[in-house]
Amino acid sequence: MRDFTMGAYRLLLETWIAQGYNFQTYRSYLQGGATGKFVILRHDVDTTPEKSLEFARIQAKAGVYGTYYFRAVPCRWNERIIREIHELGHEVGYHYESLTTCKGDVDKAYIDFKQNLERLRKLVPVHTVCMHGSPRSPYDSKDIWTKYDYRKSGILGEPYLSTDFSQIFYLTDTGRQWDGYRVSVRDKVMAFQREWEKRGWCYHSTFEIIDALEQGIFPDRAMFTFHPSGRWADNYRVWCTNCLQQLIKNGVKRVIVKYDLWR
Ligand SMILES: [Zn+2]
Repeated sequence: MRDFTMGAYRLLLETWIAQGYNFQTYRSYLQGGATGKFVILRHDVDTTPEKSLEFARIQAKAGVYGTYYFRAVPCRWNERIIREIHELGHEVGYHYESLTTCKGDVDKAYIDFKQNLERLRKLVPVHTVCMHGSPRSPYDSKDIWTKYDYRKSGILGEPYLSTDFSQIFYLTDTGRQWDGYRVSVRDKVMAFQREWEKRGWCYHSTFEIIDALEQGIFPDRAMFTFHPSGRWADNYRVWCTNCLQQLIKNGVKRVIVKYDLWR
Protein backbone atom coordinates (compact mmCIF):
# COMPACT_ATOMS: atom_id res chain seq x y z
CA MET A 1 0.00 0.00 0.00
CA ARG A 2 1.29 3.51 -0.86
CA ASP A 3 1.51 6.11 1.88
CA PHE A 4 -0.63 9.28 1.89
CA THR A 5 -3.56 7.57 0.18
CA MET A 6 -7.10 7.15 1.50
CA GLY A 7 -6.23 3.49 2.08
CA ALA A 8 -3.36 4.47 4.40
CA TYR A 9 -5.65 6.98 6.10
CA ARG A 10 -8.38 4.37 6.73
CA LEU A 11 -5.78 2.00 8.20
CA LEU A 12 -4.55 4.71 10.59
CA LEU A 13 -8.12 5.44 11.69
CA GLU A 14 -8.87 1.73 12.23
CA THR A 15 -5.67 1.30 14.25
CA TRP A 16 -6.50 4.25 16.53
CA ILE A 17 -9.96 2.79 17.15
CA ALA A 18 -8.55 -0.71 17.77
CA GLN A 19 -6.02 0.67 20.25
CA GLY A 20 -8.72 2.40 22.30
CA TYR A 21 -8.02 6.03 21.40
CA ASN A 22 -10.91 8.46 21.54
CA PHE A 23 -11.23 11.38 19.15
CA GLN A 24 -11.50 15.04 19.97
CA THR A 25 -12.36 18.20 18.13
CA TYR A 26 -10.16 21.14 19.10
CA ARG A 27 -13.14 22.69 20.88
CA SER A 28 -13.83 19.58 22.99
CA TYR A 29 -10.13 19.40 23.96
CA LEU A 30 -10.24 23.03 25.15
CA GLN A 31 -13.43 22.36 27.08
CA GLY A 32 -11.75 19.54 28.99
CA GLY A 33 -13.54 16.69 27.21
CA ALA A 34 -10.34 14.78 26.48
CA THR A 35 -9.49 11.95 28.88
CA GLY A 36 -7.60 8.65 28.62
CA LYS A 37 -5.91 7.97 25.30
CA PHE A 38 -7.00 10.52 22.75
CA VAL A 39 -6.14 12.19 19.49
CA ILE A 40 -7.24 15.67 18.46
CA LEU A 41 -7.99 15.64 14.73
CA ARG A 42 -7.26 18.97 13.08
CA HIS A 43 -7.74 19.53 9.35
CA ASP A 44 -6.53 22.61 7.49
CA VAL A 45 -8.68 23.04 4.40
CA ASP A 46 -5.97 24.84 2.42
CA THR A 47 -7.20 23.83 -1.05
CA THR A 48 -9.91 21.53 -2.57
CA PRO A 49 -12.66 21.47 0.10
CA GLU A 50 -14.08 18.38 -1.68
CA LYS A 51 -11.18 16.31 -0.37
CA SER A 52 -11.92 17.47 3.19
CA LEU A 53 -15.53 16.40 2.74
CA GLU A 54 -14.25 12.94 1.78
CA PHE A 55 -12.26 12.78 5.05
CA ALA A 56 -15.22 14.10 7.03
CA ARG A 57 -17.56 11.45 5.59
CA ILE A 58 -15.15 8.56 6.27
CA GLN A 59 -14.75 9.74 9.87
CA ALA A 60 -18.47 10.28 10.51
CA LYS A 61 -19.19 6.75 9.25
CA ALA A 62 -16.76 5.45 11.88
CA GLY A 63 -18.23 7.71 14.60
CA VAL A 64 -15.09 9.85 14.59
CA TYR A 65 -15.16 13.67 14.76
CA GLY A 66 -12.57 16.35 14.24
CA THR A 67 -12.13 20.03 13.43
CA TYR A 68 -12.01 21.51 9.92
CA TYR A 69 -10.49 24.98 9.50
CA PHE A 70 -11.79 26.84 6.45
CA ARG A 71 -10.10 29.78 4.74
CA ALA A 72 -12.12 32.85 3.74
CA VAL A 73 -10.46 33.36 0.34
CA PRO A 74 -13.08 33.18 -2.47
CA CYS A 75 -11.50 30.24 -4.35
CA ARG A 76 -11.57 28.05 -1.19
CA TRP A 77 -14.95 29.18 0.13
CA ASN A 78 -17.61 26.51 -0.39
CA GLU A 79 -20.76 27.10 1.66
CA ARG A 80 -22.35 23.76 0.77
CA ILE A 81 -19.30 21.84 2.01
CA ILE A 82 -18.88 24.01 5.13
CA ARG A 83 -22.50 23.29 6.09
CA GLU A 84 -22.27 19.59 5.25
CA ILE A 85 -19.12 19.05 7.34
CA HIS A 86 -20.85 20.76 10.27
CA GLU A 87 -24.01 18.67 9.76
CA LEU A 88 -21.92 15.47 9.80
CA GLY A 89 -21.06 16.38 13.40
CA HIS A 90 -17.59 17.89 12.97
CA GLU A 91 -16.40 21.22 14.31
CA VAL A 92 -15.83 23.99 11.76
CA GLY A 93 -13.29 26.71 12.54
CA TYR A 94 -11.85 29.72 10.74
CA HIS A 95 -8.42 29.30 9.09
CA TYR A 96 -7.40 32.96 9.12
CA GLU A 97 -4.61 34.57 7.09
CA SER A 98 -5.63 38.20 7.59
CA LEU A 99 -2.17 39.63 8.22
CA THR A 100 -1.01 38.23 4.88
CA THR A 101 -4.07 39.44 2.91
CA CYS A 102 -3.78 42.87 4.63
CA LYS A 103 -0.03 43.03 3.91
CA GLY A 104 1.12 43.29 7.50
CA ASP A 105 -1.30 45.99 8.71
CA VAL A 106 -2.42 44.63 12.13
CA ASP A 107 -5.44 46.97 12.52
CA LYS A 108 -6.79 46.20 9.06
CA ALA A 109 -6.09 42.50 9.63
CA TYR A 110 -8.14 42.46 12.83
CA ILE A 111 -11.12 44.05 11.03
CA ASP A 112 -10.73 41.55 8.19
CA PHE A 113 -10.57 38.69 10.72
CA LYS A 114 -13.78 39.81 12.43
CA GLN A 115 -15.65 40.28 9.13
CA ASN A 116 -14.71 36.82 7.87
CA LEU A 117 -15.54 35.23 11.21
CA GLU A 118 -18.98 36.85 11.06
CA ARG A 119 -19.49 35.54 7.51
CA LEU A 120 -18.59 32.00 8.57
CA ARG A 121 -20.84 32.23 11.62
CA LYS A 122 -23.79 32.98 9.36
CA LEU A 123 -23.32 29.40 8.11
CA VAL A 124 -22.18 27.41 11.17
CA PRO A 125 -21.19 28.00 14.83
CA VAL A 126 -17.48 28.87 15.20
CA HIS A 127 -15.64 28.46 18.52
CA THR A 128 -11.97 28.08 17.52
CA VAL A 129 -9.69 29.62 14.89
CA CYS A 130 -6.33 28.55 13.48
CA MET A 131 -3.70 30.50 11.57
CA HIS A 132 -2.99 29.61 7.92
CA GLY A 133 0.73 29.94 7.35
CA SER A 134 1.74 30.54 3.78
CA PRO A 135 5.45 29.76 3.38
CA ARG A 136 5.64 32.46 0.69
CA SER A 137 4.34 35.19 3.01
CA PRO A 138 6.70 37.21 5.24
CA TYR A 139 3.81 37.76 7.74
CA ASP A 140 2.68 35.58 10.62
CA SER A 141 -1.06 36.11 11.10
CA LYS A 142 -0.79 35.12 14.78
CA ASP A 143 0.87 38.51 15.33
CA ILE A 144 -2.64 40.05 15.33
CA TRP A 145 -2.94 38.65 18.87
CA THR A 146 -0.01 40.70 20.16
CA LYS A 147 -2.41 43.67 19.98
CA TYR A 148 -5.93 42.19 19.96
CA ASP A 149 -7.74 39.41 21.82
CA TYR A 150 -9.70 36.74 19.92
CA ARG A 151 -11.61 35.88 23.09
CA LYS A 152 -13.50 39.15 22.66
CA SER A 153 -15.01 37.56 19.53
CA GLY A 154 -16.19 34.55 21.54
CA ILE A 155 -13.30 32.39 20.35
CA LEU A 156 -12.12 29.77 22.87
CA GLY A 157 -8.68 29.13 21.45
CA GLU A 158 -6.11 28.81 18.68
CA PRO A 159 -4.19 25.51 18.29
CA TYR A 160 -0.79 27.24 18.01
CA LEU A 161 -1.43 29.38 21.10
CA SER A 162 -3.79 27.38 23.33
CA THR A 163 -2.36 23.84 23.15
CA ASP A 164 -0.26 22.55 26.02
CA PHE A 165 2.51 21.00 23.94
CA SER A 166 4.23 19.76 27.10
CA GLN A 167 1.29 17.34 27.39
CA ILE A 168 0.21 16.87 23.77
CA PHE A 169 2.39 15.22 21.14
CA TYR A 170 1.98 16.92 17.78
CA LEU A 171 2.33 15.70 14.21
CA THR A 172 1.49 17.32 10.88
CA ASP A 173 1.51 15.86 7.36
CA THR A 174 3.21 18.99 5.97
CA GLY A 175 5.39 18.00 3.04
CA ARG A 176 3.83 14.51 2.70
CA GLN A 177 5.77 13.23 5.67
CA TRP A 178 5.10 13.21 9.41
CA ASP A 179 8.51 14.64 10.32
CA GLY A 180 8.32 17.58 7.92
CA TYR A 181 9.00 20.03 10.76
CA ARG A 182 12.66 19.57 9.81
CA VAL A 183 11.93 21.68 6.72
CA SER A 184 9.22 23.84 8.30
CA VAL A 185 9.82 27.57 7.94
CA ARG A 186 8.32 28.71 11.22
CA ASP A 187 7.19 26.01 13.53
CA LYS A 188 6.73 27.12 17.11
CA VAL A 189 6.64 23.57 18.42
CA MET A 190 10.27 22.88 17.36
CA ALA A 191 11.49 23.02 20.99
CA PHE A 192 9.09 20.24 21.97
CA GLN A 193 9.95 18.20 18.88
CA ARG A 194 13.53 17.78 20.15
CA GLU A 195 12.23 16.51 23.49
CA TRP A 196 9.92 14.05 21.72
CA GLU A 197 12.74 12.77 19.52
CA LYS A 198 14.76 11.97 22.65
CA ARG A 199 11.89 9.75 23.76
CA GLY A 200 11.91 8.01 20.37
CA TRP A 201 8.68 9.66 19.23
CA CYS A 202 9.79 10.26 15.67
CA TYR A 203 7.77 9.08 12.68
CA HIS A 204 8.27 9.60 8.97
CA SER A 205 5.55 7.47 7.36
CA THR A 206 1.96 6.70 8.32
CA PHE A 207 2.97 3.04 8.57
CA GLU A 208 5.60 3.85 11.23
CA ILE A 209 2.83 5.51 13.28
CA ILE A 210 0.59 2.47 12.80
CA ASP A 211 3.43 0.12 13.91
CA ALA A 212 4.06 2.20 17.04
CA LEU A 213 0.33 2.22 17.84
CA GLU A 214 0.15 -1.56 17.47
CA GLN A 215 3.17 -2.02 19.72
CA GLY A 216 1.58 0.27 22.31
CA ILE A 217 4.53 2.69 22.26
CA PHE A 218 2.76 5.64 20.64
CA PRO A 219 2.05 8.65 22.94
CA ASP A 220 -1.35 8.57 24.70
CA ARG A 221 -2.22 12.19 23.92
CA ALA A 222 -1.68 13.65 20.47
CA MET A 223 -2.85 16.26 18.01
CA PHE A 224 -2.67 15.52 14.28
CA THR A 225 -2.95 18.10 11.52
CA PHE A 226 -4.09 16.82 8.15
CA HIS A 227 -4.12 18.77 4.90
CA PRO A 228 -6.73 16.69 3.08
CA SER A 229 -6.25 18.73 -0.09
CA GLY A 230 -4.95 16.54 -2.88
CA ARG A 231 -1.96 15.25 -0.98
CA TRP A 232 -4.01 12.27 0.12
CA ALA A 233 -4.74 10.95 -3.38
CA ASP A 234 -5.65 7.44 -4.48
CA ASN A 235 -5.14 8.08 -8.18
CA TYR A 236 -1.57 7.04 -9.07
CA ARG A 237 -0.93 9.88 -11.54
CA VAL A 238 -2.19 12.51 -9.07
CA TRP A 239 -0.16 10.83 -6.32
CA CYS A 240 3.07 11.00 -8.42
CA THR A 241 2.46 14.65 -9.37
CA ASN A 242 1.93 15.49 -5.69
CA CYS A 243 5.17 13.74 -4.74
CA LEU A 244 7.15 15.70 -7.32
CA GLN A 245 5.60 19.06 -6.35
CA GLN A 246 6.33 18.36 -2.68
CA LEU A 247 9.98 17.49 -3.35
CA ILE A 248 10.43 20.85 -5.10
CA LYS A 249 8.60 22.76 -2.32
CA ASN A 250 10.65 21.05 0.41
CA GLY A 251 13.83 21.98 -1.47
CA VAL A 252 12.81 25.66 -1.58
CA LYS A 253 11.89 25.61 2.13
CA ARG A 254 15.27 24.08 3.03
CA VAL A 255 17.05 26.96 1.27
CA ILE A 256 14.83 29.53 3.06
CA VAL A 257 15.56 27.96 6.46
CA LYS A 258 19.29 27.47 5.78
CA TYR A 259 19.96 31.07 4.71
CA ASP A 260 17.32 32.60 7.02
CA LEU A 261 15.79 34.48 4.08
CA TRP A 262 12.78 35.80 6.01
CA ARG A 263 14.90 38.10 8.19
ZN1 LIG B 1 -3.37 26.33 6.03
